[in-house]
Amino acid sequence: MNNTDLLDSFFNKKQISINRGGIFDVQPGNLPENFDFDRIEGLMIGLAAGDSLGVSTESMPPGLRRVVYGEIKDYFSRWFGGKHVGYPSDDTQLAFWTLDQMIKDGGLDPEKLSKRFSSERIFGIGRTVIKFLYNYKLRKLPWYKCGPRSAGNGALMRIAPMVIPYLKTGDKQMWVDTALSAMITHNDSGSISACLSFVNIIWQVLKMDSPPEPSWWIDTYINTAKDLEINHTYRAKSRKFRGYEGTIHEFVDKHVRETYERDIPTFDACKAWGSSAYLLETVPSVLYILMKHGNDPEEAIIRAINDTFDNDTIGAIVGAVVGALHGKKGIPKRWIENLSGRTSKDDDGKIFEILERAKNNFYI
Ligand SMILES: [Mg+2]
Repeated sequence: MNNTDLLDSFFNKKQISINRGGIFDVQPGNLPENFDFDRIEGLMIGLAAGDSLGVSTESMPPGLRRVVYGEIKDYFSRWFGGKHVGYPSDDTQLAFWTLDQMIKDGGLDPEKLSKRFSSERIFGIGRTVIKFLYNYKLRKLPWYKCGPRSAGNGALMRIAPMVIPYLKTGDKQMWVDTALSAMITHNDSGSISACLSFVNIIWQVLKMDSPPEPSWWIDTYINTAKDLEINHTYRAKSRKFRGYEGTIHEFVDKHVRETYERDIPTFDACKAWGSSAYLLETVPSVLYILMKHGNDPEEAIIRAINDTFDNDTIGAIVGAVVGALHGKKGIPKRWIENLSGRTSKDDDGKIFEILERAKNNFYI
């Protein structure tokens, strides 16, 4: 069965936790004539850089992190004598394994990708992915029954490469593959809709030759997510927004927009709604950083890794988007040169090799 028929069967049997929104009928459209693969290198290296810049102080309250480390602008490792080398965590691993597997399979094969996710050690693995592995490897359930309903950010952090097989065709099957890839580990309406909305954002910025207006980021997110998100009520956990119950895109519409109008700094905004792995906090934080600093890729990534709690993943998502917008040339050289490029224990340089193969397979 092809992926489109497979997804239709999941919609018919209500096996996937989103509505069949309008995005599935929209052709993403071709990239401009003068498109340069530098943008794709920016997308994937931006993701890896954001992850590696954040991972050494992952899940630390930003106020405390600031006191202990000051403003972080470079890789450093607490465990390797402060060497300025960027080592990856799960964000980089899962994103590059996805790309590598799609190169091998000529596009997304969700069964094979599920197997790939469960075949190597994952650094800093999240709780939901552990549950997925339990369902897939131990209980031996079919892949489409293994993803828990979880609104964690573990699918969103690895979704960026879904645009790559479509660089030449701009076909709407990109949305189908994104939904299937997302549901492997997180079969949840907030997560799958966030994945589709960000893949759309990435595709749109690949077409741009200058940064969009600040409101474009949230408007585009909301327009994609609004008819995908099932009316699950996500509850805010932060004190400031206690009592909020609703969808993620409604939270963005109400609160991110208003916070921007009041010109609140990213540190305070992310503190107010929280910046954990919970998508009701991750998505507002990412969008707000893009609204404030989308025109400056270095500053956007620095804000992501300094001003948020789940800073490696928020750094990875912000890094992917600003990398797609500004290209590899927009990412500071020191972050590229000092990146180990690992996707595993000792395969230094692997990410650059995968990118080269992606270029030959899906672009040239
Ligand atoms: Mg991580």
